[in-house]
Amino acid sequence: MELQKYIRDVQDFPKPGIGFKDITPLLLNNEALTTALDAFIKLVDGQKIDKVVSMESRGFFFGPMIAKEIGAGFVPVRKPGKLPYETIKQEYALEYGTDVLEMHIDAIQQGDRVLIHDDVLATGGTAEAVVKMVEKAGGIVVQLDFLIDLTFLDGKKKLEGHTVNALIEY
Ligand code: 5GP
Repeated sequence: MELQKYIRDVQDFPKPGIGFKDITPLLLNNEALTTALDAFIKLVDGQKIDKVVSMESRGFFFGPMIAKEIGAGFVPVRKPGKLPYETIKQEYALEYGTDVLEMHIDAIQQGDRVLIHDDVLATGGTAEAVVKMVEKAGGIVVQLDFLIDLTFLDGKKKLEGHTVNALIEY
């Protein structure tokens, strides 16, 4: 099944000049959703994973489903001020200025084997920040699995030394 046909291009979202990959048509179609989830499970290839870590908010669609299927726990990474308990924080660069991501301080145990999942790998800044945060907490990043890699933005370069997979590449 060709997953790419379930990705909708939306021009000028969220800002003029940006072409946005909308994954909601894929979520809407049970066959596409199941095909994508099965492909994510196959990428794990039976490796031991303790935690699946995903970023707000589109990482939360598949992240918990992957965790459930591979027998791991799920860890949400969120924007500042959203998580109720004590957090560790990681700053990262945006096009203009910086932003911060947070994760609960007790989410990752020393030596935890971690799979990082998000919907789209663009410049790689978000994923790089999550890698740093997981490693700061003592986790071992086993692999990063994305639904989409916008390869022309070369996000993989920021994740050098790590295994990076994507189900759809542009
Ligand atoms: P990066 O930090 O790699 O530049 O951006 C990745 C983050 O931005 C991801 O969390 C992703 O959800 C979001 N993102 C950037 N571009 C797109 C896009 O075209 N479509 C979707 N669905 N998310 C995007």
